[in-house]
Order: sequence, then C-alpha cells, then structure tokens
Amino acid sequence: MNSSTEQMKTVGIVGLGLIGGSLGLDLRSHNFNVLGISHRQETCEKAKQIGAVDEYIVLSENSEVDEVKTKLLQGVEIVFICTPIDKITPTLKRLIPYLLPKTIVTDVGSVKTPIVQACSQLWDYFIGGHPMAGTARQGIEAAQNDLFVGAAYVLTPTETTPLVARERVEEIARSLGSIIYTCMPEEHDRAVAWISHLPVMVSAALIDACMSETDPKVFNLARQLASSGFRDTSRVGGGNPELGLMMAQYNQENLLRSLFSYRARLDRLIDTIKRENWDNLESILELTQRSRSEFLSSSHCSIINS
Ligand code: NAP
Repeated sequence: MNSSTEQMKTVGIVGLGLIGGSLGLDLRSHNFNVLGISHRQETCEKAKQIGAVDEYIVLSENSEVDEVKTKLLQGVEIVFICTPIDKITPTLKRLIPYLLPKTIVTDVGSVKTPIVQACSQLWDYFIGGHPMAGTARQGIEAAQNDLFVGAAYVLTPTETTPLVARERVEEIARSLGSIIYTCMPEEHDRAVAWISHLPVMVSAALIDACMSETDPKVFNLARQLASSGFRDTSRVGGGNPELGLMMAQYNQENLLRSLFSYRARLDRLIDTIKRENWDNLESILELTQRSRSEFLSSSHCSIINS
C-alpha cells in the first residue's frame, strides 16, 4: 500500500466494539486517519485512549449533527458499519443525510442477505462484507491488533455494486492481512450457518447439558477436569450472547436447516450407541476424522478466491 497516499484518507468506523475497535487499531497502524462514531461518549473516549481512533463523533438517535460533525462525516472516504446486526440498516439511514454521494459504505455483519437487501436499496455505494475473525469477548476493551491477519474476509457485491466500492474494500481488507472471498449474500448465509452459526448453538447446548449434572461432587470434579477438549468445544457457545441471538434471528432459515441436520446425526449416534453397534460407530468416527481434515485442508481456497 502507498502509505503517503493513504495518509490523506479518512475511514469512518461506526460501532467501536471488538470488530470496530480492532479495525481502527489496524487501520491507524496503516496510516489511515480514523474517525470513530458511536452512540456513547464513554466508548468513544475509550477508543481514543487505546489508539483505535484519531477523532470521534458521538452519534445517537437523537444527538444533534452540527456543522462540525457534518464536515467530519463528509471528509470520510469509506465507512465501515460495525454495530450489532440489527443496528446496521438504521445506522446507514442515520448517516445518509451527512455523506457525500460517492462515499463507500460497507458493513461487517455476520449475516448478509437482509443487510445487503436493505442497505443496497438505501445507498448506491454500499457493499456487504464480513471479516471472519473474532474472539469470545465484546466491547471496545476487547479490541486488539492484527485480529484480521490470515482470516477470511467475505465480500458480497450485487450486480449493481459499483466496481470502485468492491475494489476499495478489497484493497483495505487485504492490507489488514485478510484473505478475500467473494460470493452472493445468500451463499454466504448458508455457508456460515454450517461453520459459524450452527457451532455456536451446538456449543451452547453442550455447555447447557454439562450444567445439568445434579450431583455436586461430580459437577465439581468435571469442572476441575475440564481441559482443552471442553475449552475448544465450549468456546463459541460461551461468546457474546447478543451476537448469537442475532445470528439466529437474521439467518433463521439456514440455521434451522443446519440444526435439523445436526439433530438427525445426533439421533443416529444415540441409536448406534444404544444398540451397541460398535462397528457402525467406528465407521462414523473414521469418516468424520477423514472428513474433518479434508474439509479444513481445502478451507480458504474453495470459493472464488480473488
Ligand atoms: P461488540 O463488541 O458488542 O461491538 C458493537 C459496538 O457497537 C459496541 O461498541 C456498541 O457500543 C456499538 N453500538 C451499538 N449500537 C450502536 C448504535 N446504534 N450506534 C453506534 N454504535 C452502536 O460487537 P462485535 O463483536 O464487534 O460485533 C459487531 C458486528 O461485527 C456485528 O454486526 C457482528 O455480526 C459482526 N461480527 C462479529 C464477529 C465476532 O466474532 N464478534 C465477527 C465478525 C463480524 P457500546 O459498547 O457503547 O454500547
């Protein structure tokens, strides 16, 4: 990236939590000027303190947008909307009166179809995006450097998305160390139902089931013995509840399809164990062992990797 050119560019980030804050830290380290925008003064101040933004605007539903704020917003080349999923479209609506007509707007929401449908109608220079990186933490305190390095960054342009919007977001995401994938919003939502949204629900059910042990002695022993296996399998179920809720609300159909398929496999396992059909169980486990390594070995290169 040509840093002397980028030094002139201002990126706006609305929503300064794990994703928005981490984006701000990285973009600033790549010589972008970052204008942070959030609905709470305290969050904006923290973002400034940790170096995630150069300057900020507090923009709530009712806050006044004076000339200074308008000027700051009009100086932005591209806006990343990093709010919770249900606030993405209302945030774009709120920003529109203050953006110059060719400002590029993108989002980072974990579900794409409803967001892309709504936001593309509202703004010509909108392109949906989803950096597939995260931790179990949330809020500006969770922001960290290099969160996006080596992670997939999905872009979901439509037929009407201007090429310049796609190219610019791609260029910025690449500069963060991400690997770019491009697909339709519907394909994205179906794929992430399998590898992201289903695991959250399965992991939540696992945690919930473990908590149902009624013998306090056994419960405490299990707790003391819990090691890497339980940590790995419970990690995503122990993450941000708001995010899990919105994955289900906004990707309901795909998530349900994945959950029903999972339940059928679980029932088959229960049946196999009940019947003591150990040969069958062994075959299933051998197959899943092979499938996992094949599935993961082809990740990051099977969709259109541009
Ligand atoms: P988060 O840590 O909870 O951050 C969300 C931020 O949005 C908070 O800082 C919150 O500010 C702010 N916010 C809420 N309502 C707002 C509004 N109306 N206007 C402006 N700011 C508002 O959540 P996150 O994990 O960063 O997730 C943000 C987005 O990234 C979501 O759309 C999610 O789907 C997507 N995403 C998440 C992950 C992940 O693993 N976490 C991965 C990829 C994409 P306050 O703290 O001041 O309330």
